[in-house]
Amino acid sequence: MNFRKITLVTFGNFEIDFLQKLVIKINAEFFINIQIKEGYFDISDFYDPGRRQYDANKLLYYFDNKYATDDSKTICLINVDLFIPIFTYIFGQAFLGGRSGIASIYRLSNERYGMEADPDILSERIAKEIIHELGHTFGLIHCHTPDCVMRSGTYVEDIDQKNISFCSNCREILLL
Ligand SMILES: [Zn+2]
Ligand SMILES: [Zn+2]
Repeated sequence: MNFRKITLVTFGNFEIDFLQKLVIKINAEFFINIQIKEGYFDISDFYDPGRRQYDANKLLYYFDNKYATDDSKTICLINVDLFIPIFTYIFGQAFLGGRSGIASIYRLSNERYGMEADPDILSERIAKEIIHELGHTFGLIHCHTPDCVMRSGTYVEDIDQKNISFCSNCREILLL
């Protein structure tokens, strides 16, 4: 890995304690320096009134252009409902082998599904989502190993079923 750091750019209000826990989890997989920055943009530029959701492709291009740098893998952490044309919604996406990705907590909270809030579960889910998108930026494609963090998932239960870490195969590719 030639990248010296991972940068998490937050949009919206995330508690510092929540972010610090995320950093510990992400660091356990990548072993490189992780910095947190606050970002700002007018999210309404990415709103699609027809779908009442936010355009993840547009947002990712904008984010890459404005916030990504060549020496860092940069993740946009946000709390909006994201879509790409072929899917009803997505949890996140990234440029394969690129500099950046997006992860949204919007559909990851228990409350979204009528269940009691659980900050630990939420933290685990978003950490998996961020690690998954970072994996893409490091060139990893979706993996079929059932518990690998690079397995693709449609539902929040899919995220719960996988591990927070890479399978040995993905890790080997990551370290190339
Ligand atoms: Zn993916
Ligand atoms: Zn894997």
